[in-house]
Amino acid sequence: MSSLAAARADNFYYPPEWDPSQGSLNKFHGQHALRERARKIDQGILIIRFEMPFHIWCGGCNSMIAKGVRFNAEKKQVGNYYSTKIWSFTMKSPCCKQEIVIQTDPKNCEYVIISGAQKKVEEFDVEDAETLELPADEERGKLADPFYRLEHQEEDLQKKKEAEPVLVRLQRVSDARHSDDYALNKALRAKLRGQKKRVAEEEAGCRKMGLGIRLLPATEEDAAAASHVKFSSKFDRNRKDKRAMIKSASIFSDATGSSMSNKKRLELESKRRKIRAAAASNLLAGGFKPSSWSQSTASKGASVAARKI
Ligand SMILES: [Zn+2]
Repeated sequence: MSSLAAARADNFYYPPEWDPSQGSLNKFHGQHALRERARKIDQGILIIRFEMPFHIWCGGCNSMIAKGVRFNAEKKQVGNYYSTKIWSFTMKSPCCKQEIVIQTDPKNCEYVIISGAQKKVEEFDVEDAETLELPADEERGKLADPFYRLEHQEEDLQKKKEAEPVLVRLQRVSDARHSDDYALNKALRAKLRGQKKRVAEEEAGCRKMGLGIRLLPATEEDAAAASHVKFSSKFDRNRKDKRAMIKSASIFSDATGSSMSNKKRLELESKRRKIRAAAASNLLAGGFKPSSWSQSTASKGASVAARKI
């Protein structure tokens, strides 16, 4: 007899000791076809996977076990309802190993908890759930009774009369809305065409600007935000101009008290500097004698002469 569990597990390995006269492999090994699940089969218990049919509260630690949680449960027959067997499932909760017993109830087509737990009751109001309450079975049975109908006919007619104006008005609104479907269709298509055209124009405009995406049309807020942006290039230019003015200005205070305004004087100074620079470059190029230049640098007339050269 092969004792290696793995070899026996798939039931395909026939050991050399076996021969067909000994029957099936299970019979040869002396085991049930359901193996471990049938270990209590002599007590009438089969171990199965049981799925919780509703939310329950564990009786041991009061934690919730959700609907759909699966257990290894011991299934056994505990009785009969007419010819239908009543099954009992016994399992241990995963939270605190509390034993839970659940039975089938063939009469009401449901499961009942026998011990170890409590069903989580989930009741809701019809109005809260915004659903319609269907007439109870008894009420429906009554409607088949001609006497009951006769008794309540008057009441029903009254209800109908009350509801009628509202229904008629609703029907009229609906009819008016959907009467001219040609015009509705036309209007919708025109709207869609306009929209498509606008989108195409916007896309073309953005492509011209070298953008890969379509920009939304500009708003007043965009314009306001754009006007607040200051670009650094202008700022830099202004700063450079100011610096040049300061550099060209005399470091001594204006003691002569001339009538010339400060700005004019600064401009003149910068001009003079330019002229001197031109004279210097002329000198380097060998334009005229250094002696004559050095004598005339102080006088304005010489500068003018140098410019003429
Ligand atoms: Zn528990």
